[in-house]
Amino acid sequence: MSVDLDITPIKDWGFEFDGPLIIAGPCSAESREQVLETAKGVAKSGAHMLRAGIWKPRTRPNCFEGMGEEGLKWLVEAREVTGMPISVETANPEHVELCLKYNVDLIWVGARTTVNPFAVQALADSLEGSDIPVLVKNPINPDVELWIGALERLNKAGVTKLGAIHRGFSSARATEYRNAPNWRIFIELRRRCEGMPIICDPSHLCGKRALIPAVAQKALDLLFDGLMIESHINPDVALSDSKQQFTPDDLAKVIADLKPRNPAATDENFILSIEKERIRLGEIDDQIVDLLDERMQLSRHIGELKRSRGLALLQPAQWKKTAERRVEEAEKRGMDAHFMLRVFQYIHEESLRQQEDIIAGEE
Ligand code: PEP
Ligand code: MN
Repeated sequence: MSVDLDITPIKDWGFEFDGPLIIAGPCSAESREQVLETAKGVAKSGAHMLRAGIWKPRTRPNCFEGMGEEGLKWLVEAREVTGMPISVETANPEHVELCLKYNVDLIWVGARTTVNPFAVQALADSLEGSDIPVLVKNPINPDVELWIGALERLNKAGVTKLGAIHRGFSSARATEYRNAPNWRIFIELRRRCEGMPIICDPSHLCGKRALIPAVAQKALDLLFDGLMIESHINPDVALSDSKQQFTPDDLAKVIADLKPRNPAATDENFILSIEKERIRLGEIDDQIVDLLDERMQLSRHIGELKRSRGLALLQPAQWKKTAERRVEEAEKRGMDAHFMLRVFQYIHEESLRQQEDIIAGEE
């Protein structure tokens, strides 16, 4: 179930930092002055690495599409002035070639590139033999397999300083965020790719400044290995993503307010008491599995009864009653009604799946 990746631990990537790795800088490099001024501010904010987009994947043509190679020169200058390593988004082999030429310290693959296995493979091929660290943003659609596939392509090409960036997912449902967090997908990636660093990008996830601090803290609560946050010397006039960029001073406040969390406790008594509770939790989970197994067996039996009278697979009135009763029960107990509805939607869906073959089977 877990993915076999050969990962160099992030502490051995050659960057100086303690705790979560914080990458910050403008959405786009726009001018020499903007890059240098932002970099100086970001260097004082508590961030460890500078970021800037040089080639910008814009939704519509005729928007600002980045400064290209010239912007790389500004970043190199910013690195000389501040001592901070620099990072850039790359989407094709020409980008990689230029980043290697200018000794960029880390590159990332953007969300719009991760969706395309041809593009990711071309990037991977161009990275063969280099030692540059690469972070892969999640694809814009919530597909953990596609994300893992991109990571595997790079790893197969020999990229072992490899990690992921969670920046949220496009969603048909309106949310307060620019990109829905779907933390579940991050948790699944963490489970499948043990030991691989995963960073959160609350800027592209939130889309607006006001939402970013809470999401950045949540990311630390979920034990992300770092954060990527956009910062611009003058966000109001930024040529891209102006609503989600902090001034370096505001960025410094956001970083100062973050509370890093301990991955594990060291206090023996505490470990024992939490372990006791976890054993109990494990017992409850086992009971849930037993009950689900029993429920599915019963569902299959009901499937046989439906088949014997030629009944339809879906019985809308029955499902309505099932869902309403459990939602009502959840509300009575002060539980989250939406959570309960989702649980029963899953259970009902699986019951239908179990009955489908029985109903379609030979008499
Ligand atoms: C970016 O980091 O500037 C960017 C374009 O992000 P994403 O790929 O997450 O949209
Ligand atoms: Mn941006």
